Amino acid sequence: MRLVLLGPPGVGKGTQGRRLANDHGWALISTGEMLRDAASRGTLLGLEARRSMDAGMLVADEVMIGLVKERSEETDAHHGFVLDGFPRTVPQAVALDRMLESRGQRLDAVIGLTAPESELVSRLSARYECPVCKRAYNRVSAPPRVDRRCDDHPEVELIQRVDDREETVPKRLEVYREQTAPLLDHYRGQGRLTEVRGTGPAEEVYRALKAALGSPQASR
Ligand code: AMP
Repeated sequence: MRLVLLGPPGVGKGTQGRRLANDHGWALISTGEMLRDAASRGTLLGLEARRSMDAGMLVADEVMIGLVKERSEETDAHHGFVLDGFPRTVPQAVALDRMLESRGQRLDAVIGLTAPESELVSRLSARYECPVCKRAYNRVSAPPRVDRRCDDHPEVELIQRVDDREETVPKRLEVYREQTAPLLDHYRGQGRLTEVRGTGPAEEVYRALKAALGSPQASR
């Protein structure tokens, strides 16, 4: 199963994508996470990407397409993958189709997670993540067992992403509306988009997601 999870920042793509990938033995390809890793390792790509990320802007299409091409060829992605955060522009979507076609593959599903913008703003400002396993917590709706400590890595303190700061969130939402939302129409026009409500308890969203995917089997 090769799946794209679309949706605005804070809608739950990372949380749901991670769970789907773990439960089915697929690779989770999160482009934001790849860029943050590269930035923390201080690679040239990471340092360049950091400037765009911290400002809430997108990294260039060619860079992202190259990253996903390489990553999706790795062994753990052979049985399937969940793309979280890619594509984010129509040219990225077109490149993804071409890339898969050249391998004799195709996307099996495109899911758009939805939530009202007011909820996204409050979710993003309450979001913290574990720097080790990248699990996301929410101070209000999904807090860790011990304040500011990851349930699985209590030795490290949870951190807030720079781009989740109050001053950057409006820019990210604007970039989403202008550059990424047109992708919904792109896939809808091709009859490939399934929308799933991203609000409510994470467990219910997960059930709805699996229903939309038709309960795929592991490693298919
Ligand atoms: P995310 O973790 O998906 O919210 O991504 C964090 C940031 O990484 C974004 O705000 C962009 O700056 C950058 N980024 C991640 N994925 C992409 C992409 N597919 N195209 C361009 N920029 C991206």
